[in-house]
Amino acid sequence: MTKIFVIYTGGTIGMIRDPDTGVLIPFTFEQIIENVPELRRMDYELTVHSFDPIIDSSDMTPDIWAELAILIENNYEDHDGFLILHGSDTMAFTASALSFMLEGLGKPVIFTGSQLPISEVRTDAKENFITALEIASAKLDGKPRVPEVCIYFENKLYRGNRTFKYNSAKFEAFRSPNYPVLVEAGVHIKYNDAVIGKLENSILRVHTNVSNNIGVLKLYPGISPQIVDAVLNSDAEAIIMESFGTGNTTTAKWFLEKIEAAIANGKIILDISQCKVGSVEMGRYATSSALKSMGVLNGYDMTFEAAVTKLMYLLGRNYPKDRLLRRLGTSIRGELTKN
Ligand code: ASP
Repeated sequence: MTKIFVIYTGGTIGMIRDPDTGVLIPFTFEQIIENVPELRRMDYELTVHSFDPIIDSSDMTPDIWAELAILIENNYEDHDGFLILHGSDTMAFTASALSFMLEGLGKPVIFTGSQLPISEVRTDAKENFITALEIASAKLDGKPRVPEVCIYFENKLYRGNRTFKYNSAKFEAFRSPNYPVLVEAGVHIKYNDAVIGKLENSILRVHTNVSNNIGVLKLYPGISPQIVDAVLNSDAEAIIMESFGTGNTTTAKWFLEKIEAAIANGKIILDISQCKVGSVEMGRYATSSALKSMGVLNGYDMTFEAAVTKLMYLLGRNYPKDRLLRRLGTSIRGELTKN
């Protein structure tokens, strides 16, 4: 029998509406199972680890990412796959973080949740839960078919570190515009095997040390020197600069001088775009070629979530700086495509 390790962290999926106040309050995992009687008809052996207390994913922290990574490591040999029930708000951050922390992953780690509680008549939770379980247990030629950290939501399985939550109102809450959907579930579950990452004879190595010593500089026309200084002169070792279009910024002299000085003082500056589709192309316009020659790093088509968690992971590895910079600009878990 296929053995799946289920981790219940919380989120809307496990909430019930208090009949008196209308407020959503958490369910236990047993109550979840009562709401999905179909599970009893499925041929899986589920081992369940429930967080206590269960949390809204807005309270997620790097320490909890580490707890999840260790749970997976400790139960890796005995299980065919992992299913993590998680709130959708920060699911893309946790999935991205785990993709980096679980080096050499050879089994599925599937995140899912829902927009409506599992107890509600119109819930999207049941389908998400049941199909995610099916994908977590899928095999091809006797091997796990999707040995990646993924998010399953509303009929689609996405690579976790390519995904972001884009809609808080629709059941289709996630998108992954820069990487194809890995699996699509309709009448049949269609696996897009050509785009699913596979490692030959991989050995799992778990890295739980991550550093949150990063900052974010989101640009907008009219940004003041004081705001730029506040980020660049902070203690952060690395700064994600959310730029315009293909990685462009203002060419104002004061701005470029501040960026140059920050890099000279040892700061790492990673350029990602505010656009959700497409990639940073440093040097395409004059506005980004100056940045390139100063040593601003190209974040290519990484999501904000992947950029944050990749930096946290790489800083936590304590690599020498040149190695860290090389890895930042290279795909290490399928999180970016170079143009
Ligand atoms: N606030 C909830 C959470 O992220 C929303 C959800 O589960 O969709 O935990």
